[in-house]
Amino acid sequence: MTVTEEVVRRRPALSPSRASDFKQCPLLYRFRAVDRLPETPSKAQVRGTVVHAVLEQLYALPAAERVPQTAHKLLQPTWSKLTEDAPELAGQLFADGDSLEDWLASAAELLDGYFTLEDPRRLEPEACELLVESELPSGVLLRGYIDRLDVAPTGEIRVVDYKTGAAPREIGEAKALFQMKFYALVLWRLRGVVPKQLRLMYLSDRQSLAYAPDEAELKRFERTLEAIWQAVMRSAKTGDFRPNKSRLCDYCDHKAFCPAFGGTPPEYPGWPEPDSGTETVIDRAD
Ligand code: SF4
Repeated sequence: MTVTEEVVRRRPALSPSRASDFKQCPLLYRFRAVDRLPETPSKAQVRGTVVHAVLEQLYALPAAERVPQTAHKLLQPTWSKLTEDAPELAGQLFADGDSLEDWLASAAELLDGYFTLEDPRRLEPEACELLVESELPSGVLLRGYIDRLDVAPTGEIRVVDYKTGAAPREIGEAKALFQMKFYALVLWRLRGVVPKQLRLMYLSDRQSLAYAPDEAELKRFERTLEAIWQAVMRSAKTGDFRPNKSRLCDYCDHKAFCPAFGGTPPEYPGWPEPDSGTETVIDRAD
């Protein structure tokens, strides 16, 4: 099956990135999920994509080989493969005179940050970059990618997410927690077990944050997601996606089309079929 066929057959679903977009600013959601306006990935986003891909490959190797030198060696071929598959990732990355060497060195620093947080030789994850999908009793379909899933022999689940972005941590933290609760809910619905731990690993700060969800909280979160999806559906019918100005507008690529900044949005193209919830490779590497 080709990627296109796979996408066409999929039902509309809510992903953590798009749900979080709608919560932050309905118009941003529209620009990304409905108009699908192009965005230029930042250097930090592209670096995050490469680092995530290297860590995924590292865990595919025998445990004894998962050392910093191996991770560093994987950087260059991973970068070449990614730009071959998605040339837009390279974009204008080096337009301002940075060399590929310097840029790869900055990615190597993030990998070094990872090794200060844990020793991958001691872990055997059940999966990396795992696509999970679950339908809530209300019919809302949730879909997302989990960076890493660790399952103890006793069945306890740990969800791990690598944070590589340059956004200030106080802004990113609420968003990251929202994303982690999303995964916890999907896993609970899929496996009947509430994950024991949600672990965020900030590779550039070299710090990690652990969080233990409980069932009551995930039930409340489920209602939140249902309310978000209903609100998306209401806006979808009318095309009424309002801007919501905040500090996060600094990171928005679409100010030129935003009425809150004097712009005019393109004509509403109608609700997209079949899937407005897809996450891009960039979303997955924030
Ligand atoms: S600039 Fe701000 S208000 Fe406008 S679409 Fe982007 S996030 Fe929303």
